[in-house]
Amino acid sequence: KVRVRYAPSPTGLLHIGNARSALFNYLYARHFGGDFIVRIEDTDVSRNVDGGEASQLNYLKWLGLEWNESPDMGGDFGPYRQLERLDIYRRYAEELLEKGFAYKDFREDSEDYAIRFKVPKDVEYVFNDIVRGELRFQSKDVEDWIIMKDNGIPTYNFAVVIDDHLMEITHVLRGEEHITNTPKQLMIYQAFGWETPIFGHMTIIVNEEKKKLSKRDQNVIQFISEYEQMGYLPEAMFNFITLLGWSPKGNQEILGKEEIIQQFDPSRLSKAPAMFDKEKLAFVNSKYIKKLSVEDLAQKSRSFLEKAGISIQSSTWLELLVSILQDRMTHIGEIVELYQSFFHQDFHLSEEGFQFLVENQSLNLLETFYKHLDKSNFTSDVIEELIKQTGLDTSTKGRPLFMGLRIATTGDMHGPSLPISLALLGRDIVLNRLEKTMT
Ligand code: GLU
Repeated sequence: KVRVRYAPSPTGLLHIGNARSALFNYLYARHFGGDFIVRIEDTDVSRNVDGGEASQLNYLKWLGLEWNESPDMGGDFGPYRQLERLDIYRRYAEELLEKGFAYKDFREDSEDYAIRFKVPKDVEYVFNDIVRGELRFQSKDVEDWIIMKDNGIPTYNFAVVIDDHLMEITHVLRGEEHITNTPKQLMIYQAFGWETPIFGHMTIIVNEEKKKLSKRDQNVIQFISEYEQMGYLPEAMFNFITLLGWSPKGNQEILGKEEIIQQFDPSRLSKAPAMFDKEKLAFVNSKYIKKLSVEDLAQKSRSFLEKAGISIQSSTWLELLVSILQDRMTHIGEIVELYQSFFHQDFHLSEEGFQFLVENQSLNLLETFYKHLDKSNFTSDVIEELIKQTGLDTSTKGRPLFMGLRIATTGDMHGPSLPISLALLGRDIVLNRLEKTMT
């Protein structure tokens, strides 16, 4: 049975690169009907942060991943935190000592010792990487390395092998930065005579300048939590991250989770660096926003508007608002800027707008519209009718009608649906602006 794992170190927030490792392992398990395990690799104690594990797990859940075994769920192969497995590593390290595969390295004059693996002479380590094909490493390029520190804590390259073996992991998919660790891990498998899992190392992610994405890169937002806060949708992030180093067969790149699982084919993992294309992310997310119902989008938008101090007049008002902005949003947080640019309170006519009204001799048009509005209900349907009526009354149509009224009421030459925009602005503001324009 396929068993794969994602093994984060709880050193901080879930990063896009780690999320990708988790996701590909998840896809692998789901596609082949296997198990997906989450294991916490917390042996680099000084780098662990409070809440690191919880935040990793929460954001994996947010992205829509589920798993079969983990520290919080348990399972038959636990414990799933490495610091809770120290006695296991100690036993195996001792076995290597007894069999002569490792030796004690005493710290100057002290009783304390680290345990070093004795790297064999002139051995070639070969493995067939899912992504890169056959890879070869020479043992002479590796020094005797520490498997157990003098404080009794194993190093990553040792613990990872013990765990992957005991947890019956069949495939290890991880980032390219681990390629050079793999020969060390193969040494341990060979010393114990254990079968090795199949390895696959995913290419690096690069920014738009083709430089390896570093956590400090200011131009790319890299933590999943930040995307959540900006109003990116988890389904869109799932879809986008999948495309970082993998591509589906057809041209269709907007794919839901189940479709991706079904189409996932590890032989299509790319050897070339994956480019983090911000515009593509915006595009993918906007596609998912367009699929939301107006009610759902309204509910998701509410807190962004409230936080920006924009008062929501009613649920109907909010739904109208999102319905005209939905097509323009690349993330939900953007509703604040869109609202502000379309419904700016500081109304003024641009030179261009003013010229338009003068050239089209719009005064009569505006007066007629004003009279109609003054006595009517202020819903978008009614306003739409009144715009038509105003056109008939003044024999105006096309741009002079629609653009003229838009300029006089919003100050803009272009924008979303005029009847809805006016209904959202409300009677007082609209009449007030018409008065201002007419004088
Ligand atoms: N804890 C390692 C990391 O976060 C996992 C590497 C592996 O998957 O073997 O990079």
